[in-house]
Amino acid sequence: MSKNSNPSIIARETLRRLATLKISPTPDNYQKLYDEIAGIPAIQMCSNTTKMLSKLANEFPRITPELTSYANDLESSVNEKDWRKYKAVLGDFFNIAAKSIDARSEISNSSTKQPSISWGEMIALIIKQLETPHGSLTIVKKREGLNRVLTRFSANSEQLYGKLSSLLDSWVALAVASNKSAEIEVAGTLPLVNKLSEDAEIAVIAQSDEPQSDSAALFIGQLKELLAVILERIATLHLGDATFSGEARSLARKVRLINDDQDLEQLVISFKKLEISLDSFDGNSAVLQQGLLKLFNLLVDGTGKLLVEDKWLQSHIAMLRETMSKKLDLVIIDQAECQIEEMLNKQNEIKSSLGETKATLKKMITCLVDNIEDLSAVTGGYHDKMVCYTERINQANEIFDINQLLVEIMYETKQMQDSMMSSRDEFLAARVEVKVSEEKINQLETELLEMGEKIHEDHLTGILNRRGLDNAFERESARAIRSHKPMCFALLDIDNFKRLNDAHGHHVGDSALVYLVEAVKEITRPHDIVARFGGEEFVILLPDASIEEAVTVVSRVRRSLTKRFFLHENKRLLITFSAGVAEYQINESQSNIIVRADRALYQAKNNGKNQVVVAYNS
Ligand code: GH3
Ligand code: MG
Ligand code: MG
Repeated sequence: MSKNSNPSIIARETLRRLATLKISPTPDNYQKLYDEIAGIPAIQMCSNTTKMLSKLANEFPRITPELTSYANDLESSVNEKDWRKYKAVLGDFFNIAAKSIDARSEISNSSTKQPSISWGEMIALIIKQLETPHGSLTIVKKREGLNRVLTRFSANSEQLYGKLSSLLDSWVALAVASNKSAEIEVAGTLPLVNKLSEDAEIAVIAQSDEPQSDSAALFIGQLKELLAVILERIATLHLGDATFSGEARSLARKVRLINDDQDLEQLVISFKKLEISLDSFDGNSAVLQQGLLKLFNLLVDGTGKLLVEDKWLQSHIAMLRETMSKKLDLVIIDQAECQIEEMLNKQNEIKSSLGETKATLKKMITCLVDNIEDLSAVTGGYHDKMVCYTERINQANEIFDINQLLVEIMYETKQMQDSMMSSRDEFLAARVEVKVSEEKINQLETELLEMGEKIHEDHLTGILNRRGLDNAFERESARAIRSHKPMCFALLDIDNFKRLNDAHGHHVGDSALVYLVEAVKEITRPHDIVARFGGEEFVILLPDASIEEAVTVVSRVRRSLTKRFFLHENKRLLITFSAGVAEYQINESQSNIIVRADRALYQAKNNGKNQVVVAYNS
């Protein structure tokens, strides 16, 4: 790839690729693509440090959904060897923690001494110093010391800051003591208070053996408070949206009242809702607005050009509704725009063809009417002439006159016969043409209808898309209730799909999606419904199947994938997926069964992937 030095060109190219590669526009994805386009090399890290950072990510506490999310991000950064992301995640966590604690200190009017370097810089230094040799102090010991300080002092930002400074000082002091000061860079960069008495205290802290449960409870309490304060801040930031701000504030209250697992589960559900609302705030709102505006204009234009067929209007309006109901981001808007443009083009093509055929038919009908008029004019004229001849025959006395009249009558009759015959031929020809035109119109109209149905189809795999799934779920759940039969819902997510994309390219990822769908179709029953839920996630709706039968079917698909291989350039690539399977409960909404299946899927991922987990009933 050629290097580019103009930041605005790189930024524009990055946005364009995010949209065409259908990558969600998160800051991480943006940064990664940006670096790739700008030719900035990835950060290299030695294997010991990698191990240590990986362990740190593994041991990161997962006692709340928020912390689990941080831990997952750290783990995925290690897997992807994305150290920039690792640093950002950790920095983010500490900054949020620090801000919340600062806020609390302000409220209690304590006189907080401002740290001489920022928290971000402090964290960067700790990460750096963790891997720098410090005499006899091993990395494990340093990490233990760091953990102790974090556990004991995170309630008070000033104290935590001081203790971390002292800890760094103690590392430096130990290194000096073992005559390795030349390798240490800390002293010049951080104005630390070198108090040996504090070093001693830290050493004691590192060795003290406090009961685990007390410190865990303290930590959970602090985290709850931290989360509540963050939510209150979010509420204040979005005062303009009363519902959202109210939701955030009520969530903050709930966080403080968490007592057991049930409270925590409820909180996770409320959090997901809040996250959906929050998502509509983030992103570059100006670009988002422009995208939306363009979309609207396109739709309005399209509507103006639409045929009289109502189905067209309905499809487009339904599509707009669906787009608006999703989490809005640039990729979705871009997708919707492409879809609408494509539909409009096809529609225009068919519309003009249909218009031509209709005009031809109209011309032919006019022609027929003219012929009929001509015919009645001919037959009418003949009738008048016959009346006239009858009168003349009655008056004629001479046989010669009568003969003459008969010749004339014969001539008129022949003329009328010829005219009738040619009209008959024209009638027959016109009838054939009308039939051909009718068939063409029928065919074009069927095409139009089919195109309307395509809105329910996923372009890549040809199976139902989200909207198609919505319809199928509505239909099948009603049928399950009516027939008193069970129904199951399986949510599948390909394992490590991002890695496959990164290693072999997006088009190989696309082929893998098609390959998975083929495998699913081979194993499932004809009346099972397969749909693309989004990205690399699929749904199998299994009417008339108990939970045991559904698990058997999904497990069979899973096993079939481990037996056969996906081939790319003659290389065998193993595609696996994790799945959550839920049994439909009478009158349960689709969103509820999705949440249950998603939780089971999450558990399957957490248990090590490539497995099927049954969802709990709610
Ligand atoms: P996990 O095992 O935890 O599910 O990890 P993962 O890598 O599969 O999941 P993650 O959500 O991190 O990444 C999903 C990736 O799927 C990110 C996105 O680039 C990719 N993706 C989404 N839609 C498509 C698509 O239509 N085609 C291709 N090739 N990739 C897609
Ligand atoms: Mg996924
Ligand atoms: Mg996945």
